[in-house]
Amino acid sequence: MECRPGCGACCVVISISSPIPGMPHGKKAGERCVNLTEDNRCKLFGKPERPAVCVSLEPTPEMCGEDNDHAWRYLAMLEQATKPDRDL
Ligand code: SF4
Ligand code: SF4
Repeated sequence: MECRPGCGACCVVISISSPIPGMPHGKKAGERCVNLTEDNRCKLFGKPERPAVCVSLEPTPEMCGEDNDHAWRYLAMLEQATKPDRDL
């Protein structure tokens, strides 16, 4: 499946540890990528400087669901479940 234009959940909700243009240390969970436009599209889409981690992320029905609410909720749950520094 294709990434749904205007969703942007991956570019806000999850943390990215590798460098992103304009964000040399990556981004924290919940932090908006500086390359995300106001209407939640990637400014670097199709450009060589788009980070490998973003290019390799495959949209899936489980993650993306039918609407943006699903994707934002699913990724928030995933981020919470995989957070390395959570208190156990
Ligand atoms: S959750 Fe899916 S549709 Fe939303 S930005 Fe990520 S890949 Fe695209
Ligand atoms: S570079 Fe583009 S695809 Fe990657 S997190 Fe930023 S806006 Fe999203």
